[in-house]
Amino acid sequence: MKRIYLVLLLTAVLLSISAVSATDDFAISNDTLEIDNVDEMPLQNQADLNQGEELQSDDDPALETSTDTVANDTKKVQVPSKATTKNVKSTYGTPAKFTLKLTDQDGEGISGKLVTFKVNDKVYKIKTDSKGIATLKLNYKAGKYTIKYSVSGFTGKNTYTVNNKVTMTILKWGNKGDVSKINLIKKNMPKNKWVKEAVDATKKGNPLLKFQGGKGKTVFITAGVHGNELSSQVAAMKLINYLSKHPIKGTVYVIPFVNINAITHKVRHTGTDYNRVAHKSGTISNKIVNLVSKYDCDAYGDFHTTQPGGIPGKDIVMGSAGPAKKCKSMTNYIAKHAKVHKKIYKYAGEQYPGALADNVNKKGIPGVICEVMLPHNTVTAKTVKTSYSMMRYLLKFNSVI
Ligand SMILES: [Zn+2]
Repeated sequence: MKRIYLVLLLTAVLLSISAVSATDDFAISNDTLEIDNVDEMPLQNQADLNQGEELQSDDDPALETSTDTVANDTKKVQVPSKATTKNVKSTYGTPAKFTLKLTDQDGEGISGKLVTFKVNDKVYKIKTDSKGIATLKLNYKAGKYTIKYSVSGFTGKNTYTVNNKVTMTILKWGNKGDVSKINLIKKNMPKNKWVKEAVDATKKGNPLLKFQGGKGKTVFITAGVHGNELSSQVAAMKLINYLSKHPIKGTVYVIPFVNINAITHKVRHTGTDYNRVAHKSGTISNKIVNLVSKYDCDAYGDFHTTQPGGIPGKDIVMGSAGPAKKCKSMTNYIAKHAKVHKKIYKYAGEQYPGALADNVNKKGIPGVICEVMLPHNTVTAKTVKTSYSMMRYLLKFNSVI
């Protein structure tokens, strides 16, 4: 029994000691935490607050006027040290912002400074705002411009580039396919977003691309009215590539693939020759003539190829002396500059009543047919170049490029 009492007593003593030491440890560490959190932090915060108050008094205009000497001692003199600008790019019809930031020796913006901007011959005077930024809003026609600026002894210049606005609509007239299945089209596609979109669109209908650069004439171009005449279609893709990258004056519409069904079957047409029915209501070629008229176009060009020994069987531009007044001079201009033959009929529709260009002419809009000679379903660099050259001179005659 004695032994049991001794063991119990010893156990009781040991337990009470460990309990006391555990409590002590906890109490001490708790105290330390309290000191850190409560005593030191408020002191720091107070210091921050004092600094903040001092800074605020610098900016307070009321204080500056009432205590002149104090304000002058503490107010920083801002020395214009840098004018920051960068080149701007935009699309016709979308306003752009050209900004100039004037900063001092510490990189802080300087407000209220008058900046003189000069875009070509036009002068703008704009003050820098509270952040030191002067914003010039621009909405110019497509082109490349130089912006010159001058402020507080700083001068410099930047470029302002306005690209053509490009849009594509798919004319769902029931003529569709996939022209990328034609190897010579796929192989000769320029790497360009709009060319790709136009080619992809043929699965749904006729792609109609619109390029807008601002005030100027409107020209409408078609290719692929005859399916197996590939060089003019490749030239049209080349033109789309060009127009999506170079600013123009005016508007250009392009349907690069008209008879998609015939193109995919590698034939001239699949029952109806579109270049013989443009005078007949409801046909695709008649719908194109109506679009040219509806868009109030100033000129139209329809691009073909012709077989060696066929009719006309040579590189040629064909127009008529009437009724569209400018058709004769336009035909002469293209022939002279693209170095191709020419044929001017007395009156549009003299040879065939249903050709697209003739029916456009009959609406008083000058229209030409441009042909390059090579076998059907073939493409050569030379014929593409000649077809493309005729397209460009059609646009040049109309001052679009
Ligand atoms: Zn043809």
